[in-house]
Amino acid sequence: MEKTFAMIKPDAVNRGLIGEIISRFENSGLKIEALKMINANPDIVANLYPDNEDWLRSVGQKMSNTYKRYEKDIVADMGTDDTLELGKMVRQWLVEYITMGPIVIMILSGNHAVDVVRKLIWDTNPVLAQPGSIRGDFSVDSADFANSAHRAIYNLVHASGSVKEAEDEIALWFGGN
Ligand code: GDP
Ligand code: MG
Repeated sequence: MEKTFAMIKPDAVNRGLIGEIISRFENSGLKIEALKMINANPDIVANLYPDNEDWLRSVGQKMSNTYKRYEKDIVADMGTDDTLELGKMVRQWLVEYITMGPIVIMILSGNHAVDVVRKLIWDTNPVLAQPGSIRGDFSVDSADFANSAHRAIYNLVHASGSVKEAEDEIALWFGGN
């Protein structure tokens, strides 16, 4: 038995996908332990995405890889190719994204809940997410498109990536309760 944290992001709330997304979580056999609709405050969002160099560089590196893959000039678009600076940009875009409108946050529990929810949402980049997954079925956004628009990838849902992340995120958003 495991617990995980998930968030229905503002783009999904705006598109009327709350019920659809919750249904997919429930249909998988996971149990909803807690659920609330809130307006996120920018400080808590900043805490969701770590301000540490490893995380920032890993996100910056992903952005750099996307530019290489599509043979586009990252310095022309972003003004830098430093992965740390790129990571900081994504983090700022995320604060803007998650505070764009109301969100729905929840705690889900069940066998391998962390992996099950990641399987249901699939890849960060919706154009690469499998059909049948939430991101694959309901979005055609992509990393390159989002980067050139200087915003986060609108991918409808957030879910913890590991048991440790889940513990931290449940404590952050639900005060540990
Ligand atoms: P997730 O766990 O699948 O949500 O992905 P990450 O934890 O790696 O990144 C957090 C969020 O940052 C993602 O859900 C996206 O909204 C955004 N993001 C991640 N990588 C990129 C990127 O390369 N470009 C842009 N524009 N946004 C990104
Ligand atoms: Mg993540």
